[in-house]
Amino acid sequence: MLAVKSVWQHYAPAREVLRLLELFRRMVNESLRIGIANNALSLRRLSLLSYNQLAQYDSPSYYKLCAISRAAGILVARKKSVRRGYATRNPYAVRPLLVSCYGFKIRNGLLEIPVARGQRFAIPLTTHTLHAIAQPGVTVRSFTLTRTRLCLCITRDPPRIECASTIGVDRNLRNLTVGNDNQTQHYDLSKSVRIANTTVRVVASFRRDDVRIKTRIASKYGRRRISRTDHLLHNATKTIVAVAVQRREAIVLENIEGLRSLYRRGNGQGRKYRGRMNGWSFGEAQRQIEYKARWTGLQVIRLSRRETRGSSTTCPRCGERLQSDKRLKRKLWCSNCRTVMDRDMVAAVNLSRRGRVRFARSRPPITEAQGGAGEAMRGNPTPTVIPGVEPRS
Ligand SMILES: [Zn+2]
Repeated sequence: MLAVKSVWQHYAPAREVLRLLELFRRMVNESLRIGIANNALSLRRLSLLSYNQLAQYDSPSYYKLCAISRAAGILVARKKSVRRGYATRNPYAVRPLLVSCYGFKIRNGLLEIPVARGQRFAIPLTTHTLHAIAQPGVTVRSFTLTRTRLCLCITRDPPRIECASTIGVDRNLRNLTVGNDNQTQHYDLSKSVRIANTTVRVVASFRRDDVRIKTRIASKYGRRRISRTDHLLHNATKTIVAVAVQRREAIVLENIEGLRSLYRRGNGQGRKYRGRMNGWSFGEAQRQIEYKARWTGLQVIRLSRRETRGSSTTCPRCGERLQSDKRLKRKLWCSNCRTVMDRDMVAAVNLSRRGRVRFARSRPPITEAQGGAGEAMRGNPTPTVIPGVEPRS
C-alpha cells in the first residue's frame, strides 16, 4: 500500500514566485465561482467548464489544471459539510498558495519550478528535506508553496512487514500504554496536561477588555500549546512504531469515533473535567501512529466499537468483569483470579488480543505453541501470566 507523507521547510520567495502565488489564488477562486454557479463538483466537469475561462491568466498551464483540481477538492469538502448539516459559506481562497504536481524538477539540491514560459525559478532545499527525499523508494509527488513555506508531498511503497503477533495501544489522558501478553510499556504524557493547564491560565489572566487582542493572544498561546503537545506525541509515537517494527508486532488501535460526544454538556461531568478530556488530542495520537506505521509497512488493525467493548474492564486472564475500588485508584481487581491489575495495562493487553483474533483470520493460524493466545473468555483461562501484575499481598 502506498504511504504518503510530507516534508516542509522555510524559504525566501522571490517576486515572481509571489506573483504566481497570488495568481494561483485568483485562479482557484475563479474555478470555485464557476463550480458553484454550475453546481459542478467532479474534477472532469469543472475542468471542462473552467479551463477556457482561465485562459486570461498569465500562468503556466500546469498551474491552471492544479488550480482547478484544488477548487474541486474544496467543493467536495464543502459538499460533505452540507450533507452533514454544518452551516457553510461560499468558499473563497484567502491565502496566496501554489500547489502543483506537474512541471517541477529536483536537481543538485534545488527545487526548480516553472514561473513563466521557458523561465524557471530554483529554490534551495535544506539538508533535512534532501535527506527525507533521498530515502530509498521515496518519490516526490507534488510541491506546495506558501509565502514562507515550501512543502513536498512524498510517497513510498514500503515492503510489508510480516508480523508474528500484535500489540495494543490504549490512549489515556496522561499516558499511552502499549502492550501485549509478554510486555507492556507506559509512555508518559502527563506533561501535555500541564501544558494545557498553563495555556488556560495564561489566556485567562488577560484582563484588558479588547476582544481583538484577546483573540490574537489566545490563538498565539493555542498554537504554542499545539506545537508543544505534538512534539511530545511525536516522540512517543515514533518510539512505539520503531519498537513494534523491531519486534514485528502489528499495532491494534481502538475506534475513537464519537469519542467527543462522551464529554458534553449535560453528561453529568464537571466543566473542568470536560475541558481536560476534550483538550486531549486522541485523534492526533492515532493519526501519528497510523501514518508512521504505514510509512514503514507495518500493519495497523483498527478495531470496531463492538470489538473493543469492555476492553478496560475485562480480566485479560479469565474474562471476568473487573472491580474498581476507590482505594485502588487506577488499579482493578479480579475476584476470580484474585489479582490487582493496572487499568491501562489491562486495556492494552485486551486490545492486542482482540486484534489478534482479527489478525488470525487474515493469515495462517498462529498456534498456542508459537505464543498465540485466543481471546480471554469466561471459563477459558489462559495460562499466560501477565508480567507486571502484582499479586495482592
Ligand atoms: Zn481474572
